[in-house]
Amino acid sequence: MKHIKAASVQFNHKPGNTVPVKSTMIAPCGMNCSLCLTNFRDDKGCEGCNGSDENKPYHCIACSIKNCEYLAKSKTKFCYGCEKFPCTRLKRLDKRYRTKYGMSMIENLESIRDNGMRSFIKTEKDRWKCRKCGKILCVHRENCVYCGEKWR
Ligand code: SF4
Ligand code: SF4
Ligand SMILES: [Zn+2]
Repeated sequence: MKHIKAASVQFNHKPGNTVPVKSTMIAPCGMNCSLCLTNFRDDKGCEGCNGSDENKPYHCIACSIKNCEYLAKSKTKFCYGCEKFPCTRLKRLDKRYRTKYGMSMIENLESIRDNGMRSFIKTEKDRWKCRKCGKILCVHRENCVYCGEKWR
């Protein structure tokens, strides 16, 4: 088994042990959970916001967006279907991700709304593919956790 040290996290990968980018991994806020650090840490990855809470960190279980009353009323299951979209809460999260990780939840949601989920998934698969080794990139790390290539 190969160990790669990146930042302060010890990665413990099996070759090919990646979480695929698929529609069930897209959270109501627009986060692509396949890119989350939790899924790169060990064999017990999180099933994503829409999956079971078993391996989910507490802040994602208690997330105020996931548990938002407007979201429960929305037919789309995504924030873009809400009358308050984009609300202050979502804008705050979006700003944090744009600033720290160069990714916008609101842009993701607009893309799903305007072009459909299938098109979004296709774009995401290409966008988050390491140009060196071809594996999936982690949005929370600026180097590919598999080959170390700097991508951000
Ligand atoms: S930890 Fe949270 S953001 Fe990460 S994959 Fe799980 S639900 Fe998604
Ligand atoms: S946009 Fe804001 S208010 Fe609307 S569902 Fe999302 S978190 Fe809730
Ligand atoms: Zn790589």
